[in-house]
Amino acid sequence: MAYLGNPKETIAVLQKYGFNFQKKFGQNFLIDTHVLNKIVDAAGVTKEDLVLEIGPGIGTLTQYLCESARKVIAVEIDRNLIPILQDTLSEYDNVTVINEDVLKVDLKKLAEEENGGRPIKVVANLPYYITTPIIMGLFEQHVPVESITVMVQKEVAVRMQAGPGSKDYGALSLAVQFYAEPYIAANVPQNCFMPRPDVSSAVIRLTTHKNPPIQVKNEKLLFDLIRASFNQRRKTLLNGLSNAQNLPFSKEQVAEAIEKAGLSANVRGEALTLMEFARLADVLS
Ligand code: SAM
Repeated sequence: MAYLGNPKETIAVLQKYGFNFQKKFGQNFLIDTHVLNKIVDAAGVTKEDLVLEIGPGIGTLTQYLCESARKVIAVEIDRNLIPILQDTLSEYDNVTVINEDVLKVDLKKLAEEENGGRPIKVVANLPYYITTPIIMGLFEQHVPVESITVMVQKEVAVRMQAGPGSKDYGALSLAVQFYAEPYIAANVPQNCFMPRPDVSSAVIRLTTHKNPPIQVKNEKLLFDLIRASFNQRRKTLLNGLSNAQNLPFSKEQVAEAIEKAGLSANVRGEALTLMEFARLADVLS
């Protein structure tokens, strides 16, 4: 089987199987060798690694991963792609394809069983409609991952990497940076995919922190505070937190906590670092 990362081979496979793209599954297949190499390089995949690929499609990126990794587990929701993958990956004996919705797979168990507790690498050209649940699911369920290298919508990559003061800074930035160090490895234009997506894309690597950059007594409260602050972005932190439905604090309690955390009384949530949110959560907990 030839490499698929170009328009000609991709079209040949699609025609051979009479495959129709399903928009609801976010199917935009890569047709650019340069981008495929870039993803594998950014992920730093070696022959020691177990790689989890989410959404292998017709197996374009999977072929590259099979050549660089020790083992690849690929989870694909669309059953029409399974016979195609059997064909396009027939030369590799180090790949397992699972026909499932990735959000329903116990990835922690899978990673632990398949890699003896050692952290795995996640590499994917993600289905964009579930980018956040996939990434936050990996972190929050404490799946042992060393890094997550994924193609995402460009705006999402920028938000993940943003810091305080930037218009892109928000709950997603803080959630991702609590668990990992983000690095945008490449910007990828629409014409590298078939069919072309409506948005620009980027490859981002999230390298999981070995030791958490901050300590916090109550992680849930930290994230409730972050969400409440950015839900009401234009309000001061004081008003945002005391008006939030999901938080039990009075205006006086919030004002006192803001002062104790060493923050200015009229600060906005978008100006706070992760460390400052953690300090506030500790005072309130
Ligand atoms: N990896 C291929 C490539 O780069 O050419 C395909 C990437 S395409 C952007 C996303 C893939 O994810 C599609 O194959 C789609 O069917 C699959 N997918 C969508 N939702 C999924 C889900 N919930 N679980 C597993 N795979 C899913």
